[in-house]
Amino acid sequence: MKTQVAIIGAGPSGLLLGQLLHKAGIRTLIIERQTPEYVLGRIRAGILESGTVSLLREAGVAQRMDSEGLVHHGVEFIFDGKRIPVALSELTGGKSVMVYGQTEVTRDLMQARSDCGAPTIYGVQQVAIHDAKSDHPFVTFEKEGEKCRIECDFIAGCDGFHGVSRQSIPREVIREYESIWPFGWLGLLADTPPVNPELIYAHHERGFVLCSQRSLTRSRYYLQVPLSEQVESWNDDRFWSELKRRLPDELATKLVTGHSLEKSIAPLRSYVVEPMQYGKLFLVGDAAHIVPPTGAKGLNLAASDVNYLWRILTQYYQHGRSDLLATYSRLALNRVWKGERFSWFMTHLLHDFQEKSDFDRKMQEADRQYYLGSRAGMMTIAENYVGLPYEKVGV
Ligand SMILES: Cc1cc2nc3c(=O)[nH]c(=O)nc-3n(C[C@H](O)[C@H](O)[C@H](O)COP(=O)(O)OP(=O)(O)OC[C@H]3O[C@@H](n4cnc5c(N)ncnc54)[C@H](O)[C@@H]3O)c2cc1C
Repeated sequence: MKTQVAIIGAGPSGLLLGQLLHKAGIRTLIIERQTPEYVLGRIRAGILESGTVSLLREAGVAQRMDSEGLVHHGVEFIFDGKRIPVALSELTGGKSVMVYGQTEVTRDLMQARSDCGAPTIYGVQQVAIHDAKSDHPFVTFEKEGEKCRIECDFIAGCDGFHGVSRQSIPREVIREYESIWPFGWLGLLADTPPVNPELIYAHHERGFVLCSQRSLTRSRYYLQVPLSEQVESWNDDRFWSELKRRLPDELATKLVTGHSLEKSIAPLRSYVVEPMQYGKLFLVGDAAHIVPPTGAKGLNLAASDVNYLWRILTQYYQHGRSDLLATYSRLALNRVWKGERFSWFMTHLLHDFQEKSDFDRKMQEADRQYYLGSRAGMMTIAENYVGLPYEKVGV
């Protein structure tokens, strides 16, 4: 098999990159370890930054998002039972976020790819990257026992944190930065109306709570839990009653409970690998970085990487700009580190840390008072939450 860009992984970053490159007339072949049903069954992100929304529109896959997604102009914080609205649009010159689930984004991208006849091979095994430093890189894999080979110009490693792409880079040329957080998030998805029109990030002495949503009839709630917790110990009743205990009375009484569609515990991790490029191999999205979900940045950083790589490859194929290829890692990482910083900041601000010293607790409290008690502080939160601007490519 031959293509211009071989893409490993059909998650949101692989599919979005494939769609944007296809629109630019660049041939791609995507290989994915799982089945399409499995990929669509993963319940993950739900908040799209304004830049991600624009990119999906540019990719021509925004029709359903624009009619079914919910534009949010604000978000709410709760500390010591006090509700503090943050007017995102007013503080950012009119920007907003879009509530539209990652599953739906993936479904739209899959549909677009199948409509345009661009190839995706699902259920592949033994994926390996070869000669990434040469002018003739290639990817091998097995499909139903048959050995296959893709010859290509470039390889996009969009295969998530546990994929092969990052692991194919010699350890001596990369540097990893990591912080593991001492708690996890227990998430529950239910077909119930959200407790509040806007998302709520609540700090409570029993632990952090996020009241999120996927639509006007589908809610996603998260509870901070110790890493030792097992999801099996949390039946729906226990989840709902703990959630109510961590919310102010007026919200707890309004909360509509129901049968869970999904329940899982996600550990929280901050991770970045540098550089994000090795010869003709580019790392994209979770393959290169992970954030705790507190800032709603994981999917948005994946889209940000796609934005840079798509523009660089388009300039390369359409205008011979081979000089831009080496700029990918720097451009992507500049924004990744800002997203990491915001996610780290929000996680510190909002969670209960058992092991914090009294001094650190006072610092956390002062941070809350400053960031949510002044316009300057709220502006900082708002501009990061709606998404920082992308840098220009090739100037
Ligand atoms: C439980 C959970 C909750 C989350 N919640 C949020 C949230 O609220 N907000 C937010 O912004 N982000 C959230 N995230 C993060 C967000 O979902 C990810 O950042 C996003 O999925 C990254 O997209 P990706 O395409 O880079 O990686 P992935 O979505 O991981 O996709 C990678 C794809 O590569 C495939 N693959 C892996 N290995 C191979 C291989 N060897 N060969 C071929 N294919 C392979 C995988 O099957 C997968 O389909 C959450 C993540 C998790 C796990």
